[in-house]
Amino acid sequence: MTSKKTALIVEDEQEIAELVRFHLQREGFECAVTRSGRRALELARQATPHLMILDLMLPDLDGLEVCKRMKESEQTRGVLIVMLSARGSESDIVTGIELGADDYVTKPFSPRVLMARIHNVLRRVSTPIRDELAESAIVRCGGNLIIDKERHQVSVNGKQVPLTTTEFAMLAMLARKPGFVRTRDQIIATVHGPKTVLSQRTIDVHITAIRRKIGEFGEAIETVRGIGYRFADGETVDAE
Ligand code: CA
Repeated sequence: MTSKKTALIVEDEQEIAELVRFHLQREGFECAVTRSGRRALELARQATPHLMILDLMLPDLDGLEVCKRMKESEQTRGVLIVMLSARGSESDIVTGIELGADDYVTKPFSPRVLMARIHNVLRRVSTPIRDELAESAIVRCGGNLIIDKERHQVSVNGKQVPLTTTEFAMLAMLARKPGFVRTRDQIIATVHGPKTVLSQRTIDVHITAIRRKIGEFGEAIETVRGIGYRFADGETVDAE
């Protein structure tokens, strides 16, 4: 493991690439820049970076294809990917997240926002919430919302909340990785079972029901417009 954090910036607009490089370097990242999606994949294989800043519109391979190939290869699967996308390309963002991108920033963006997103992504992965642990664990959010995955029970301030199986599965999925955006299709894929048929629209209905039932914690489930939902990042989550 290298001690220096490394970032690969994949962006064909030189001004943006330089801006991102400047700010990442100031935060101690060692940066490489390329304007080509193909070259990015080569570079990532030669020296796996910690972080990839990935523009979606590139002259050769587009960013979504780069993201897909990064996640397909065992060597580069763990690289954190923050996508840069043009405003209004929500379907691209949805696709990117489904392909495994960790977050996105829409252009034009302020460097402050970009760096905040990057910090969030880095912090999230350094929090020791391991899937295998969380899978059977009790998740406490701010101490008073408890999701007991073994008993399939949720309680708020000590009072049990009657959630349906689908609602429970959705809440548990979102709460497992606070701060990560989940698209409606990802929620469907996780929650879908032989007895549950979910459409994009029914997801919204279930979310409304969950929010109502968990009362003051309802706000923790954030709507990410045009994309999906996310469990608030600010909550303390302990896996036991
Ligand atoms: Ca571009």
